[in-house]
Amino acid sequence: MGGSWSNSRSVWVVRVREFCVQIDSEAYASLRRHGEEVYPEESCGVLVGRFRDGGCVVVSGVRCENTRRDSPRNRYAIDPKELVRIQREARAKGVEIVGFYHSHPDHPAEWSSTDLAEAHWIGCSYVITRVAGGVAAETRSFRMAGSWDEKRFVEEEVVVEGL
Ligand SMILES: [Zn+2]
Repeated sequence: MGGSWSNSRSVWVVRVREFCVQIDSEAYASLRRHGEEVYPEESCGVLVGRFRDGGCVVVSGVRCENTRRDSPRNRYAIDPKELVRIQREARAKGVEIVGFYHSHPDHPAEWSSTDLAEAHWIGCSYVITRVAGGVAAETRSFRMAGSWDEKRFVEEEVVVEGL
């Protein structure tokens, strides 16, 4: 457990986890709603914002179509062309891709071996929401750490801005 002084509020902030993803409350509500809307299939999207010490700040989420038509209930994929377009649009606005989100219909908000195998953005946040019976339940986030040869997920704190 570590801690740090938050200059803006002059309070001692105890961080239980090493990393933290701060998500705009509207973006947070939207990504959870997305999971409910496409249930029982998996939703997926891109998180746009800024990196900072110890994590990132998400200012918006971009909804994507799940291109895994062979197994949309337990797999997700984002069209690489769409990803390039989102990256270009983000940069034009002075932000960048800081993470990804998807839902787990009727499964825990825990990363799967497939999630790890298919995650390639070291340093990015991978946000997972469990959708139970069509209703968004817990949302957790895992930061992709390590290197290309030895990547791993580290759970990080989710802070919703404005709540
Ligand atoms: Zn997953």
